[in-house]
Amino acid sequence: MTTQFSDLNLRPQLLQAVSELGYTEPTPIQMGVIPAMLAGHDVVGQAQTGTGKTAAFALPILQNLNPDLKSIQALVLTPTRELAIQVAKAIHDYGQHQGVRVLAVYGGQPYGQQIYRLKKGIDVVVGTPGRMLDLMEQKNLDLSQLHTLVLDEADEMLSMGFIEDIESILKQTPETRQTALFSATLPPEIRRLA
Ligand code: AMP
Repeated sequence: MTTQFSDLNLRPQLLQAVSELGYTEPTPIQMGVIPAMLAGHDVVGQAQTGTGKTAAFALPILQNLNPDLKSIQALVLTPTRELAIQVAKAIHDYGQHQGVRVLAVYGGQPYGQQIYRLKKGIDVVVGTPGRMLDLMEQKNLDLSQLHTLVLDEADEMLSMGFIEDIESILKQTPETRQTALFSATLPPEIRRLA
């Protein structure tokens, strides 16, 4: 029997969103990752773009979101600003019926607007490691309620030289956080990071 979205213990608002996007059944990575993340496990996923990896981590993040907390509950690190914008839009679309507040942050954009949005309240921040670390060091990211950290396209982030930034970010997040790592390839440096 094939797994359906309705078998994945997702809230009705999420089932409605994926159905409106025309998704009829979960992709293999979604079938593997969604139950594991909902069970609270850390995950490592070997996945290329086009496999549905974004929904694989976004749906569990949205399922776990507590709107009453009013502080950041998930961070997603991406190698490029284009991917940050794309992932933030996907999370916004999947979470549209639960009113999720998502912000994309990346270098080359003024800090003022990003900091203003953060102060107003954001549930999920998606961004490139350099800008994310700057915002953390300026104490503009309250991570005390962080539940999940995602490293998207981890091999790309490593090849772009972001390893030190990523390690500094990891050190500044609560040890109790859940971590999900996605990478097209799993070379030894990625395994060590995982
Ligand atoms: P991604 O690998 O996350 O970049 O997703 C690739 C494309 O597949 C995006 O256009 C998604 O909207 C789409 N997609 C993700 N999950 C599903 C699904 N279960 N059924 C159909 N399309 C999907």
